[in-house]
Amino acid sequence: MNNTTKLILPLLLASGGSLQAQQQTLSLQGTVKNGAVAVVYLQRFENKIFTVIDSAQVKNGGFSFRRRLPLPELYGISTQRDVVPSYVFLDAGDNKVTIDATDENRQKVSLSGSKSQQLFEEYRAQRKPDIRSFIQKYPDNIVSSYLLYREWSYRLSPEELEANIALLSERQQQSRYIQDLRKIIAVTRQVAVGKKAPAIVANDPDGNPQALYDHLGKYTLIDFWASWCPPCRKENPNIVANYQKYKSQGFEIYAISLDKKKEAWLKGIADDHLTWQHVSELKYWNSDIAADYAVRAIPANFLVDEQGTIIAKNVRGEELGKVLDSLFNQAKVEIGGLKKDFKGQNPISYESTKSQEIVKQEGGIFSVDKRVFFTNDYDGARLNGLQKSSDGVYHVQVAPERTPINPSPWYGFQVWAARDTTIRIQLDYPSGVHHRYDPKVSKDGTSWNKLSGASFDLPVSGERTWVSAQSNVPSKAVYQWIEQVNPAVQLQKTEAGKTGLGKALNVYVVGNPESKKSIAVLGRQHPPEITGHYAYASFVEYLLGNSADAKEFREKYRIYLIPIVNPDGVDLGHWRANANGVDLNRDWSEFNQPETIALRDYFKKEIGQQGRQLYFAIDFHSTGSDIYYTVDPALPSRFPGFIPNWITSVKEAIPGYEPLVKPLYLGGPTFTAYSYFYKNYNAEALVYEIGDNTDPDFIQRKARISAQKLIEKLNES
Ligand SMILES: [Zn+2]
Repeated sequence: MNNTTKLILPLLLASGGSLQAQQQTLSLQGTVKNGAVAVVYLQRFENKIFTVIDSAQVKNGGFSFRRRLPLPELYGISTQRDVVPSYVFLDAGDNKVTIDATDENRQKVSLSGSKSQQLFEEYRAQRKPDIRSFIQKYPDNIVSSYLLYREWSYRLSPEELEANIALLSERQQQSRYIQDLRKIIAVTRQVAVGKKAPAIVANDPDGNPQALYDHLGKYTLIDFWASWCPPCRKENPNIVANYQKYKSQGFEIYAISLDKKKEAWLKGIADDHLTWQHVSELKYWNSDIAADYAVRAIPANFLVDEQGTIIAKNVRGEELGKVLDSLFNQAKVEIGGLKKDFKGQNPISYESTKSQEIVKQEGGIFSVDKRVFFTNDYDGARLNGLQKSSDGVYHVQVAPERTPINPSPWYGFQVWAARDTTIRIQLDYPSGVHHRYDPKVSKDGTSWNKLSGASFDLPVSGERTWVSAQSNVPSKAVYQWIEQVNPAVQLQKTEAGKTGLGKALNVYVVGNPESKKSIAVLGRQHPPEITGHYAYASFVEYLLGNSADAKEFREKYRIYLIPIVNPDGVDLGHWRANANGVDLNRDWSEFNQPETIALRDYFKKEIGQQGRQLYFAIDFHSTGSDIYYTVDPALPSRFPGFIPNWITSVKEAIPGYEPLVKPLYLGGPTFTAYSYFYKNYNAEALVYEIGDNTDPDFIQRKARISAQKLIEKLNES
């Protein structure tokens, strides 16, 4: 069964009940001025369409309607049968209408006696209407419900719409406009970022059915447009330009037209040179596809990945190019010719690292129905709010510690229920934030399974189930791990300083204390970067292992291990920052934060003042895909070519592996840790980025080989 049908059906049944406006007696007295009119029509607005429900003969310039009708509601008055009428909000009781027939084609209708009509006109007279304040002023008037439904449903997010519905009186919350709006909200949620795009099959210009899922490229734009829609036509050249630019890399477009007439549709395609897949039901706004996608205004689009998962909505203009650029232009560079002119992440630019206020999540147990319980009351949790929608879905709000912020939407919570059941959870992100981490679930906090999408089914019981963006590895677990990697190895634990929250910031030192040669290995500046932590762990396990080369290495070198640079951020469930709201990997120039200050001073003492040399520094992170960020090879270095040679030896040890390398430090201030160690200690330094979704076995294998090859080279130095 298709999801949309499943969710909509119960709602439709519910609204068939008794929740309509009350049948009341309408009394409408009309006058016609300045012209002759024979008949006046009364129209009712239903399903976005006006239909004639009554008519009255005009006698001596007067007419009247008197009948039982649902009131108050929006009706229409016209002097011809098949025209869009003038909108009138009729109230129960006496309504007076004047039709000014001076202009035969455009009669002016004015209505008095109706309070609703007055409010409607008040709203329309506003230059910049604000629905929220209007509803607050008139929570119990049908006009508020109508406007929210008709004029705001496609402008506000489901959450904003629900917040506005909550401001309405109970009676208005039951009005038919709000019931229709709730259906729209339910469909909108089905096409949220992270959801699978609903299937589409419709005819192409030759009349052959074309299924969306048969036309998916690496990334596909599902584009809603029509030849009659000027803003769509205006956007078309931009889409054409992007299509030409990225088509060869796997960018596809599947366009749905809301045209009525085939000729107009085909002419629009030809005139705008739209050479991609086109389909149309030729049903204008009655399009079922538009309804399935909750499209109520065009242009509208959905960007989906290879699997049809929605990754962005309504990307237009310049933004479309930017999004496609970031999707298609992951740096891919030959090891030998480390070039400066390739794309991918831009060099790090300045941002202030002065402490700033963070938004704290409220900790505790959340429940909206006393049947299912959520908690964020543990290290590494993040849950900013909980709601249950009318379709029974639990909406988990996920918000960052501050904005703006790198989009690494970390979430984490435990959930349990009074009785065994399966619930549906939807992760709600702030607008503009894309679902990045598919949920990982665990019964014990140790072994984790991966689910898919921002909306997922979860069996729950009396026992707690963990759900998080990646497996949860709080600071305590990191320290426990490193302290027991190899009991045979003497690991010296030193507290370099305290974090903002007063936790110990530990450095673990191993190897020959007399050696003047050293390396530093840094982990977890950015809390959600768990795959980076796993790479770190495998790398360090090799360094601390019992192999002959590792033992020789520890004889020759002093090794500084900082397994977690940002324990506060990790334990607070942050997306990026420490407890002072700062991205620590931007603070290695100004040193405003306790963690970076502690490490700077620690290394000054250990390296600078001991006559020791730092040969090598590596910092582990996670991002979209595996990549090494390096120092510009044109800059001076202790061992020129060391890092490219090392990466090449890793590549050769893993058949089929094509490393991506990008020099990101090109000189100037050292915002990042690795560039700081390069610039201040002349260390061969780099960032080791591993993909968010890189296979765990590969993470481990590559990290071990990387450690082994590094040791091989350094043992020779
Ligand atoms: Zn990072």
